[in-house]
Amino acid sequence: MSKPKIVVLGAGYGGMMTTKRLMQKLSPEEAEIVLVNKHNYHYQTTWLHEVAAGTRNQNQARMIISDVINPNRVNLIYDEVVEVKKDDNRVILKNSEITYDYLVISLGFETNTFGIKGMGKNAFSITDIDSSRMIREHIEYQFAKYSTADNPKDEDLAILVGGAGFTGIEFVGELAEKVPELCRKYDIDRSKVRIINVEAAPRVLPGFNEDLVQYAKKSLADRGVEFREGAKISECKKNSFVIGEGDDTEEIKAGTIVWTGGVTGSSVLSKSGFEITKGKVTVDGDLRAPDEDNIFIIGDCAWVMNEEEGKPFPPTAQAAMQHADTCANNIKGLLRHEPLSKFVFDDKGTVASLGKADAMGTVFNDNLLYGKPAVSMKKVIDNRYLFLLGGPKLILKKGKLRMI
Ligand code: FAD
Repeated sequence: MSKPKIVVLGAGYGGMMTTKRLMQKLSPEEAEIVLVNKHNYHYQTTWLHEVAAGTRNQNQARMIISDVINPNRVNLIYDEVVEVKKDDNRVILKNSEITYDYLVISLGFETNTFGIKGMGKNAFSITDIDSSRMIREHIEYQFAKYSTADNPKDEDLAILVGGAGFTGIEFVGELAEKVPELCRKYDIDRSKVRIINVEAAPRVLPGFNEDLVQYAKKSLADRGVEFREGAKISECKKNSFVIGEGDDTEEIKAGTIVWTGGVTGSSVLSKSGFEITKGKVTVDGDLRAPDEDNIFIIGDCAWVMNEEEGKPFPPTAQAAMQHADTCANNIKGLLRHEPLSKFVFDDKGTVASLGKADAMGTVFNDNLLYGKPAVSMKKVIDNRYLFLLGGPKLILKKGKLRMI
C-alpha cells in the first residue's frame, strides 16, 4: 500500500519549519513528504531589507534547501506553484503537476500597492532575494552615475521609501548605514543624499508603542532620514511620488523609489478558488482552510483569528514558525486518527532594527527595549531561528555572531 503523501508548498519560515517538524514527528514509513519551492534555496525574508540596502550579502541571507532538509527523506521539487486543484487533490506547477493527500500552503506574501497609480510599475519592492538585489544595485548605480555625470542632479541620489511600517523603518535604518559608505566610495558629500520615508498614517510605525516610535524617529532622523507623516501618495511616477490630491499636491523626486507599504497573501490562493478576505484565507482554529479536511494554510497566506481581540494576529515570521508546529502536529493527528489541536499564539514580542547599531521593540509581556539590548535581542531572535532549522552548525555558517 502506498504511503499518504504530504505536500508542503513554499520553503519560507512556515514551510521550512513545517517540513522540519514533520520529519521529526513522523517515521519515514508513515508518510511521504514533498517540499515544493520556486528556488533551490531558502531565504530569511526578515533579512531582505539588509540585502536591499546592501548591508548584507544575499548569500548570507539564504541557504541551499538540501543543506538543511535531507533530500533522502523529503522529496524536494524546485518549481513554481501555479494553482491548487482542491477538488481532485492536485497541484499544478509551472513544469509539472503533483498529487497530495495532505497539503500545506505556505507561499508567503506578494506586494500590495492598494491600487496607487503607477506604484506597481515604477517602484521597487522588497519581496525576495532577486528583487532586493535589484534595489541594492540600482542605488549603487545612481551613485556611480552621479559621480561620472557632466551635470549631475542631486535628486538622482535621493531614495524615496513609501510606507513607514515595520519593513519601511527597518529598510531606512539600513540605508542610513549604507549611504555614508557609498558617499565615501563615490566621493559624494553626504548632505546631497536624501532618504525620505513617506507614510499616509498620522505617524510612522502605526500600532507601535508611542515611546518606541519617538525613539525610532529620533535615532533615524539623527542619521539623516526625513519623515513625511500623514502624507498620502496618490501616484508614483517614474522618478517621483505625488503626495495629496486635486489642487493640493506636491511632487517629491528621487532616483530610487521603493514601496514597502503593503503586502497580501499569495495570488495562488485566489486562483485556486479559496474564499479570500483582504488577500488571505481566514483559517479555522486548527489552521485548516474552511470546509477542507486535508488543506492547511499558514504564515502570510492565512488570517488566524485572535478570538480574544476579535481580529487576526499580525503576519510575522514568529507567527509563521508557530503555525508550523501546530500544522505538523495536526497532520500527525490526522494520520494517527488523534484529535487536532487549536493554534495558540505565544507572543514573544517584536524587535525592529534601526541599522546595525540600534534597534527597539517589545519583549516578554510588552517590556520596552531600546538601543544595544534591543540589538542583541534582535540577533538572538535571528539566530534562534537558524538554531531551530539547522542547529549550531547553521548558526556558525549563517548566523549574526557579533552581539553588539
Ligand atoms: P515566506 O517566508 O515569505 O516564504 C514563502 C516562500 O514561498 C518563499 O520561499 C518563496 O520563494 C516561496 N514561494 C512564493 N510563491 C511561490 C510559488 N508560486 N511557487 C513556489 N514557491 C513560492 N517578521 C517578524 O516576525 N520579525 C521581523 O523582524 C520581520 N522583519 C521583516 C522584514 C522584511 C524586510 C519583511 C519583508 C518581512 C519581515 N517580517 C518580519 C515578516 C515575515 O518575514 C513574514 O511574516 C514571514 O516571512 C512569513 O513566512 P511565510 O512562510 O508565510 O512566507
